[in-house]
Amino acid sequence: MDSPNSVGGCQRIVTTQMSTEPCHVLVVGSGAAGLTAALEAAETGASVTMLTKGHAPDSSSWHAQGGIAGAIGDDDTAELHAIDTERAGRELCRQSAVRVLVEEGPDRVRELITLGVPFDPELNLEGGHSRRRVSSVDGAATGWAVSSLLSRRAAKADHLTVREATAVRSLVIADGRCLGVMTPDGPLYARATILAMGGAAALWARSTNPPGQIGDAVAIGAAAGAAIADMEFMQFHPTVLEGSRLLLTEALRGDGAILIDEKGERFVDELAPRDEVSRAIVRRGRVFLDLRAIDRDRFPGLMAEIEKSGFDPAVVPIPVSPAAHYTIGGIVTDLHGRTDIGALYAAGECAATGVHGANRLASNSLLECLVFGRRAALAALDEPPLPARLGEVPPVPPERVTTEQLREQVWLQAGVIRDPADLAVLARSPDPVAAMVARFAIARAESRGVHYRTDAPVANPLFEGHFVMRPGQGLILEQWT
Ligand SMILES: Cc1cc2nc3c(=O)[nH]c(=O)nc-3n(C[C@H](O)[C@H](O)[C@H](O)COP(=O)(O)OP(=O)(O)OC[C@H]3O[C@@H](n4cnc5c(N)ncnc54)[C@H](O)[C@@H]3O)c2cc1C
Repeated sequence: MDSPNSVGGCQRIVTTQMSTEPCHVLVVGSGAAGLTAALEAAETGASVTMLTKGHAPDSSSWHAQGGIAGAIGDDDTAELHAIDTERAGRELCRQSAVRVLVEEGPDRVRELITLGVPFDPELNLEGGHSRRRVSSVDGAATGWAVSSLLSRRAAKADHLTVREATAVRSLVIADGRCLGVMTPDGPLYARATILAMGGAAALWARSTNPPGQIGDAVAIGAAAGAAIADMEFMQFHPTVLEGSRLLLTEALRGDGAILIDEKGERFVDELAPRDEVSRAIVRRGRVFLDLRAIDRDRFPGLMAEIEKSGFDPAVVPIPVSPAAHYTIGGIVTDLHGRTDIGALYAAGECAATGVHGANRLASNSLLECLVFGRRAALAALDEPPLPARLGEVPPVPPERVTTEQLREQVWLQAGVIRDPADLAVLARSPDPVAAMVARFAIARAESRGVHYRTDAPVANPLFEGHFVMRPGQGLILEQWT
């Protein structure tokens, strides 16, 4: 029996029996990409179901802080945003995807303004951006503001059913077409399935992501035969409060916060790209973010969180270290979210469009969710009806379990600075995603963007391309335009 409830403004439906009635568009994940795709599809009158493993605040989107990039300032252009994105991406951004992101991005940000997201009056400057172009809410509450608003709209939307606490374990595939998903409660069929399942950063012991973000999309996608790319590129956020998941946003450094070592000396350009700052911190040992000179009132929620953790940012510098943050790799898609499998789409952090190259520019990922989530929904609507006979219901695979020991191993063997001998050990992990990360990192015998190898510390032009894994093949380096 259904029992409607409310979690964070999001409709909650707990069912013991799941309807096998097919829907038009099935969206897996209720972060920014899933919400955008589900709302976009439902607005056309199509029947949409959105499934999510936990509850609304379990997504990374809910926790995003600094904001959403988008060239909406008077001194800014899509072209400048593209230049910054490609510079951060180190010769690896897929240019067609960057064009889509920067050209459609401003309209998506303006739509959020129209919907009532209470963005701060000033645009923020973040690392790697040449202009103030990051829209934020209360300095560091952007993800919460955007996700809760979209969740409230989803709860009220006609034609849209939201199911929380429903984990997808596998895809139902017949004759090269995705027919839906398998959950512990049974199958759910749809003309089109959009995976918006987020990243894998919680597979690392030090992570900013909610614990469930362990890369289920790539595990499930690869098992079904989808192409996977770029899994060597895990972006580490440089400034995470030591011993916690609390990220201290780039916007703080944009506003003048400085990084100092134990002697109180600065050692890095605080606004350099994240990979450079992360490596500088790891090499320096124990470091601190000094917030004493900035206008802390611009970040009220974050300052309260820091104080809750036992530090007074007005008095002492805050100990920070890097943590796994954003998964650049994922399921390969075209510019409309289409994967190699018919009727299967991917959008947001679980997709590999190539837009971020070898390093994601700060605040480009919420934008990616809005732009590519919408594109995937529009393309998914065109899928033809399901075949009359859906065939046998496949068995439900067992739950993927990740232990603390595995997460420590991934942190040590595929962390900020990587050694090929460590990677070779990790490549034998029984966990499919941990092993995949290691195999991709071994193949990329160079250092580029967020991927740094001790034995090959500089970029090598031979590796200008994306490593792609397809069923039955080794890793193949492809050029994406
Ligand atoms: C602390 C933090 C701060 C950040 N700050 C910023 C920022 O300021 N600007 C920016 O652009 N980006 C930021 N990011 C990155 C950004 O938040 C994410 O890249 C983005 O929100 C990803 O959105 P998504 O919809 O793709 O995935 P998510 O928001 O992670 O949502 C994934 C969804 O999939 C569901 N799911 C996962 N596995 C399953 C399964 N097996 N079955 C069913 N459901 C499943 C999850 O429950 C969840 O609902 C930040 C990230 C973090 C963690």
